[in-house]
Amino acid sequence: MEYVFQPPAQPSVAVSGSDSRFPVRRIFCVGRNYAAHAREMGKNPDRDPPFFFTKPADAVVESGVSIPYPPETGNFHYEAELVVAIGTGGRNVSEDAALSHIWGYAVGNDLTRRDLQLKAREQGRPWDWGKAFDRSAVIGPVLPVSQSGHPDQGSIRLSVNGEVKQDADLNELIWSVPEIISILSHSIELQPGDLIMTGTPAGVGPLEVGDLCVVAIEGLGEIETKIGPSL
Ligand code: MN
Repeated sequence: MEYVFQPPAQPSVAVSGSDSRFPVRRIFCVGRNYAAHAREMGKNPDRDPPFFFTKPADAVVESGVSIPYPPETGNFHYEAELVVAIGTGGRNVSEDAALSHIWGYAVGNDLTRRDLQLKAREQGRPWDWGKAFDRSAVIGPVLPVSQSGHPDQGSIRLSVNGEVKQDADLNELIWSVPEIISILSHSIELQPGDLIMTGTPAGVGPLEVGDLCVVAIEGLGEIETKIGPSL
């Protein structure tokens, strides 16, 4: 079998302490999973069941890579997130079995064209242009579960140019990692290589050209992203 042109390289992210890489199949993201962030977005966290949106696998960017300020936005936002890396697929996964599907964890930054996202929300249109653009998913090295354990508490913090903007604890997640995996797996069949970005705490805000954005999660290390000029 021949392709009509060379197929693109398999998107992947680094693995902590290894030359091997984690191949990325899909990126699922949870919307509004910390109560204070739901409130800052004008929503009631008590009544919203979890919902998901996606980013293309090739939106992944590694820590340390500069990202050009994206097109068509004047309100480009950071979002610190815990990332779950799925190693074993499955459908209709129970909460009790959910952790056994996880290969590892990483630190992530769900980059967002907030103005396009909010406009889409108001108009009842898809979020893709606000969320699923090129280089919109910064994902740090994945730590295998043997190193990371299953973090369900600990600091999650984001700074811009050294100033802390988001400062929360993983124990504030409205929907836990096992609940997210179980709920997601009832809608789609999870596959090895799927990443789940689990939502961001309060304190989201803009990035400007020249900014350095650092996300740190206790036990998982930190990732950094510099914002460069538009292409
Ligand atoms: Mn997010």
